[in-house]
Amino acid sequence: MLEIIEPSETPAGPVGPTEWMDVAACVGHSDLFFAPFAERPEARVRREAAARMICSNCVGLSSCQEYARSNRELGFWGGESESERAEAGFPPTTPIIGRKRVAEQRARDAMANAS
Ligand code: SF4
Repeated sequence: MLEIIEPSETPAGPVGPTEWMDVAACVGHSDLFFAPFAERPEARVRREAAARMICSNCVGLSSCQEYARSNRELGFWGGESESERAEAGFPPTTPIIGRKRVAEQRARDAMANAS
């Protein structure tokens, strides 16, 4: 049975350390980590496979995965897709409409806060 871990509260900003963003292997590849509008399933599989390859060589993988789970991020983080994070009990809390824009803004905010 799928267990959903409820957020304890709605945070005002990102939760958890962000130092790992300084060594992120995905910098410059955001097109692989966030779905374009109306992405077809086959394209998603190819895009996420490419993202997974980048994550597999990233020294920040475990911290990134924990961060994405804690913050209910959208997109591909820490070697996990949104659906894989949801299956692990950490579904995104953002409505489907506008998710790409929200995901991109969250990623920009997180990277800006890390620098
Ligand atoms: S684990 Fe993946 S998503 Fe996270 S910082 Fe590294 S390359 Fe980027």
